[in-house]
Amino acid sequence: MNVFKISASNLEVFLDCPLRYKFKYHDRIPEVEMFQKTNYRAVGTAVHETIRRFIEMGKVEDNPIKIINNILAEEFTKAGLPLPVYEDWTKIMQEWLIRVRLPTKVLGTEKEIDVTLPNGVPVLMYLDLVEELDENTIKVRDWKTGAPYSETDMNNNMQAPMYILGISQLYPGKKIQFYFDFIKDCELMYVYDNDRMKNAVRFIKATYDSIIAMDAEKVEARINKNCGYCGFHDKCPEVLKARRGEFKVNYHTSGDLDTLIKDQLNVSHIEKLIIGEKDRLKQLVLEKMSVNGDTEKVTKEYSAKVTQSRYTHYNVRTVMRAFPDNPEEVLEVKKTAVDKYLPKLPEHIRAEIEDSAENTFSAESLRITAKKSKG
Ligand code: SF4
Repeated sequence: MNVFKISASNLEVFLDCPLRYKFKYHDRIPEVEMFQKTNYRAVGTAVHETIRRFIEMGKVEDNPIKIINNILAEEFTKAGLPLPVYEDWTKIMQEWLIRVRLPTKVLGTEKEIDVTLPNGVPVLMYLDLVEELDENTIKVRDWKTGAPYSETDMNNNMQAPMYILGISQLYPGKKIQFYFDFIKDCELMYVYDNDRMKNAVRFIKATYDSIIAMDAEKVEARINKNCGYCGFHDKCPEVLKARRGEFKVNYHTSGDLDTLIKDQLNVSHIEKLIIGEKDRLKQLVLEKMSVNGDTEKVTKEYSAKVTQSRYTHYNVRTVMRAFPDNPEEVLEVKKTAVDKYLPKLPEHIRAEIEDSAENTFSAESLRITAKKSKG
């Protein structure tokens, strides 16, 4: 029987959006590369391959920068990546070489490992670099070509605990150190304690069980921070809604902080989705233009419509004076929750706050919608 093995990337995709997971891993539909100018996945593979080859050469005494640049050139050429991207990466790799501490005892590079975690979940891991620091300690590094993780990203990350658990099975009794090396920037160590690992064990098991129990017919889209990078926009009902301009973002209207935070997240996620769509629209316009050269007609046909929403911005100091008992809360919610309190306030305070109000517009980019004109 074929046992389903979970990897860090399919776990992350499922947690972001079950529909993207279904398209990518269940239906095995190839994902479209969203950013045409730079194929980030190809860059990632070429950089990983460059580092692997460089490290496998062992200690390089003579001109390591030249050597790594030559390997990089070969890998970028193989992947068909453009020259300006290569030039950027030669500079990045030079700086990385100055910063990085190269391993002395390598146990493996780019290893694909199949292991069952202590919670019974079978996992597939791709270990970029495993080294022995001393007889009791194993250090594992994962190369990242993107921007460094924030503290929240580090706290929510599931790859690190999954790998630490998996590697502990391979090297029983050893202390495991796990690092993300953001090649463009810095190295971040994943710090864990028993509570965090216990939570991660439960969470990975629960996610694995949800994937196994997933009903592919009923899976729904979940807008998230990575929608802009999702390559299934043409199949996603939420994107189709965005194209028809059907998003309703109830921003600046909620009364409590939790709803406000949820609203803000929702807006920033939709923004990402729309930014992905903006590139697509531009591309459509350019394609059309090169066919019939009728710029005006094309722009009318596929226009990116920007709408702005008006909201009321109260003077924070005036509002705070009205709530002497709870200034922090008011300072936090600022203009948003004031509407909730207004009716409860004495007439003269309400009047003062209302007088301080200004009508402002929300950021333009919130409501970019694609509209196809009729006829
Ligand atoms: S665009 Fe976002 S919501 Fe739609 S399938 Fe992709 S990840 Fe899910």
